[in-house]
Amino acid sequence: MVVALFSDPRMMEHRVPFRHPERPERLQAVLRHLERSGYFNTCPKGVIREATIEELSRIHDAAYLRRVADLEAEGGGMLDPDTWLLPGSNLAARLAAGAAIEAVAFVLGGENRRALCLVRPPGHHARPRSGMGFCIYDNIAVCAAEALARFDLTRVLIVDFDVHHGNGTQEVFYDSPCVGFLSIHRYPFYPGTGARDETGTGPGLGNVVNIPLPYGTSRAEYHAAFRTGIEKIADRIRPEIVLISAGFDAHAQDPVGDLGLDIEDFEVLTREIVLVAETHARGRIVSLLEGGYNVPILAGSVAAHLHSLGAEAGRA
Ligand SMILES: [Zn+2]
Repeated sequence: MVVALFSDPRMMEHRVPFRHPERPERLQAVLRHLERSGYFNTCPKGVIREATIEELSRIHDAAYLRRVADLEAEGGGMLDPDTWLLPGSNLAARLAAGAAIEAVAFVLGGENRRALCLVRPPGHHARPRSGMGFCIYDNIAVCAAEALARFDLTRVLIVDFDVHHGNGTQEVFYDSPCVGFLSIHRYPFYPGTGARDETGTGPGLGNVVNIPLPYGTSRAEYHAAFRTGIEKIADRIRPEIVLISAGFDAHAQDPVGDLGLDIEDFEVLTREIVLVAETHARGRIVSLLEGGYNVPILAGSVAAHLHSLGAEAGRA
């Protein structure tokens, strides 16, 4: 199995003031750790580009895309109380979404391929008509839309293990007969959505599985709930590709999230997802970085995730 990495140093140019937790050092630390641990050299690197307006329009409405462009032209500002758009931000966000698009093309363009997109800003809170929660464009939704539109897939599964509910992604595909969405998250918690009875609507009814867990849930309970949930949605969707919103802020030492997990738990979770991909989707996976705000812990967690995706650590 080849696991290609998709990233770009220009994504560091999204710089948010006031010691914001979603900062360039996150990605720098991840890349440095993968270099030191020998993963970086053994994984092929994907070439990325900015997502086009047409590609972003599959998810976000024209008025929002105009608002982002206008705010950028004015020199920047806030999209919501947590979400800054400053010079460099829109380029970074378009590269993050473009990485997702190029990664899905890579994975669907051959056999035995997976991809990990080391991107920022994250995406899963971005809504069709607004940025939210550090997110400007919903990268994973753009990725799924590409798989449906350009590769004619009809069954895509998105698995979101970020500690926060992926409200933007859920909203985009809530009535979709083609996209299944599984989210396991702390609840009640930001952003407030993700209750168990949110299960989709219309032709998408039953295609959304939310696993809301209270603070203090044990790791064993977490894994049992995840296993039950992913088996249920995988049997229903029988995905042709599995996409992962890979947030690592459920780690016990995360300053923003914290659902009591340890680094090795991300290996276990990833192995469960790999099993589903191998059963239904010829092993095809695209994973995208979402949250994770304890910088050294994030770096170790991403390496654990990459290891379970099948990457080999060679000589650094
Ligand atoms: Zn998060």
